[in-house]
This record gives sequence, C-alpha cells and structure tokens, in this order.
Amino acid sequence: MKEAPKSTAAAVNHLTDVLSRLPGIGPKSAQRLAYHLLKASEEQVRELSDALVAVKQKTRRCRVCCNIADGDLCLICGNPVRDRSRICVVEQPQDMLTLEHTRVYKGVYHVLHGNISPAEGVGSDDICIRELMARLDGGDVTEIILATNANVEGETTAMYLQRLISPLGVKVTRLARGLPFGGEIEYADDVTLSRAMENRQEF
Ligand SMILES: [Zn+2]
Repeated sequence: MKEAPKSTAAAVNHLTDVLSRLPGIGPKSAQRLAYHLLKASEEQVRELSDALVAVKQKTRRCRVCCNIADGDLCLICGNPVRDRSRICVVEQPQDMLTLEHTRVYKGVYHVLHGNISPAEGVGSDDICIRELMARLDGGDVTEIILATNANVEGETTAMYLQRLISPLGVKVTRLARGLPFGGEIEYADDVTLSRAMENRQEF
C-alpha cells in the first residue's frame, strides 16, 4: 500500500501509525482520521479516548459462554427465557449478534474467540473449547449447533468439535445449506442465515 506523506509533527505521525494498524484502515484513511481528530474539540477527543479505555476495562468474558459481558453473565446467559438445552457455537461475538438479528434461534451460545488454524499456530487449547466442554457436564444440553465459518479453519474447528462431542451422546448439527463455502457468518444476510439455521444438519 502507498505510504501517506509524513506530517511535520511527531504526534500526528504517531497517531497515524497507530490508527493504520486497525483492520480496514489504510495509511491514507489513518492520516485523514488523525487530522480529523486534530481539528476536533478537546471534549470530543476525550470522549473517544475514554470509550477506547472503557471497552477494555469495563467488559469481560461471560462466565458461562465466553461472550462479551458487562458483568458476570452476558445478556443471553442472564435471560431466563432462553432454551439452555441447545448451544450454538460461534467463532466471534459478532457472529452471535448477526445470528441474534435473524430472531430464529431461541437457544444459548458459546463464543470460541477464534478457530483452530494450524497454519497460524492456533490450536484447540487457544480458543474457548475447554469452557464449552465444561457446559456439557451437567447432561442438560441435548444439541450443539456448530455455526463456525464455512471456510477451511471453520470446517477444521467444526470437525474437531464434532469428534469431541458426539461420543458424549449429544446431537451435533452444523449450519449448512445457504451458506456458500468461504462465507463468513458475520457478513451473511438475514435470509441466508435464517435458512442455514432452520436447515441445520446432523454433523
Ligand atoms: Zn453468556
């Protein structure tokens, strides 16, 4: 990618550099943002920096499902109406939000925070699989819905979990029809995702 011309002030260059490390932000966009912030009021900038710190300090992982939460439990696990006999396993918290948006699923979730990717050195111990297995101890869970992405890492993760969970006598299903190979849950539209959930297949 083409480098943006350097500013004459070190602090602006530093901010540009930090911003350009964010996903989807190239050097030019980073520079535009840096100059935008330079022009903004002190109050606006303070609000942004407070929000950045708060997202780290005021959130934690749900004790049950590893989803992002304000307290001990996330909103889904804290909701007594949700069906706890079904757990939908997703890679990222954003995938859960996208699935929730379809309103077809009434069960609970488990967020892995990644996928198994030998190419990137990510193994089964590096994502929240241990926490998922602990939830199966009580015997109340009857179905695990694997909603990992339809790409190589997502499939590898789904297969690993299927092999781990099936011997426990828990039904394992996988989102299937409708999701194209290579498709990521986060970017799927409501109709495709609703259909994939309704047509999930035993795995
Ligand atoms: Zn939770």
